[in-house]
Amino acid sequence: MTVFNHISFDEHEQVVFCQDKESGLKAIIAIHNTHLGPAVGGCRMWNYASDDEALNDVLRLSRGMTYKNALAGLKMGGGKSVIIDNPNIQDRKALFRAFGRCIDSLGGKYYSAEDVGVNTADIMIAHEETPYMAGLEGKSGDPSPFTALGTYLGIKAAVKHQRGIDSLNGLKMSVQGVGHVGYYLCRHLHNEGVKLIVTDINQASLDRVVTEFGAEIVSPQDIYHQDVDVYAPCALGATINDTTIPLIKATIVAGCANNQLAEARHGDELKALNILYAPDYVINAGGIINVSFEKNYDAALSTQKVEEIYETLMRVFIQADEQNCTTTSVADELARTIIHAAKE
Ligand code: NAD
Repeated sequence: MTVFNHISFDEHEQVVFCQDKESGLKAIIAIHNTHLGPAVGGCRMWNYASDDEALNDVLRLSRGMTYKNALAGLKMGGGKSVIIDNPNIQDRKALFRAFGRCIDSLGGKYYSAEDVGVNTADIMIAHEETPYMAGLEGKSGDPSPFTALGTYLGIKAAVKHQRGIDSLNGLKMSVQGVGHVGYYLCRHLHNEGVKLIVTDINQASLDRVVTEFGAEIVSPQDIYHQDVDVYAPCALGATINDTTIPLIKATIVAGCANNQLAEARHGDELKALNILYAPDYVINAGGIINVSFEKNYDAALSTQKVEEIYETLMRVFIQADEQNCTTTSVADELARTIIHAAKE
């Protein structure tokens, strides 16, 4: 396993490998860039097939956080952490305490929070060992509802841009993954009269959206080719790839998952097919925006800031049209300009 020559290594400032034998902790923390401030980004716990898969994930996710935080107008750099789920983990509290100690050893250069597989209770345990945790109970808490709000508004921006309509009423949308964010997203869409087609690998999560929102269930492999207006990837990354792109019938891809495109060229392929893509780190910034209000938490101010995602995405869509380039290249350029200015 290489680090500096790794395909996803992008001049990361620091990559830290953490192990605690007693608790079974194996984690990687990646600090991508701190020009705008201390790195902030959630912790993902996942059963990675290999250490390299975990490294690849944390390198890609932390880079995404730098761009996400910059474009959302936050004074925060980009970082992320992953915990490799493994059979040696017996005591979840001990695991997150050990994780907290690792975060603490970085002295505030990186703040962690919730992501896939990690909940607010885990973050509170880690917080017993370090102040460098965000998304705390009684403060900004679970970021998922805010991520869902931003994603919902981003979908509205995409529909407005492509079709000139303000209402989603009567549209059909497919959602891949109805976990924390996917559930709240479905609620917004359902409330606006959207017909939902969903998939997940967790039956309880599926049951909830069927009961509450009348969603139709399809199998995970059938989600891509549904005849819908919008496809919302809300599970894991790299699901927009060579295999899935030819299947997609939606004319808009807009969801909350991080790193949706397997490779940058898949953004070009979506554009060639006239599929409007909402860059993931722009549309899913609601959660981190909410986390940025952690110190003096104010839900109303946070909501107001999350609502800016609509305009930010509109700007990206319009510029991409004007420059005849992909929405991802416009977003990347806007973010790089902000990061560069901060460095100067
Ligand atoms: P989650 O774990 O609560 O939900 C993910 C859901 O996807 C789960 O229900 C899981 O069963 C399902 N899933 C996994 N593999 C699947 C597959 N192959 N097919 C269908 N379903 C599958 O996580 P979450 O917090 O809702 O986050 C979802 C995505 O959004 C992740 O990519 C995450 O990084 C991203 N994201 C989350 C937040 C947040 O605030 N939680 C913020 C920004 C981005």
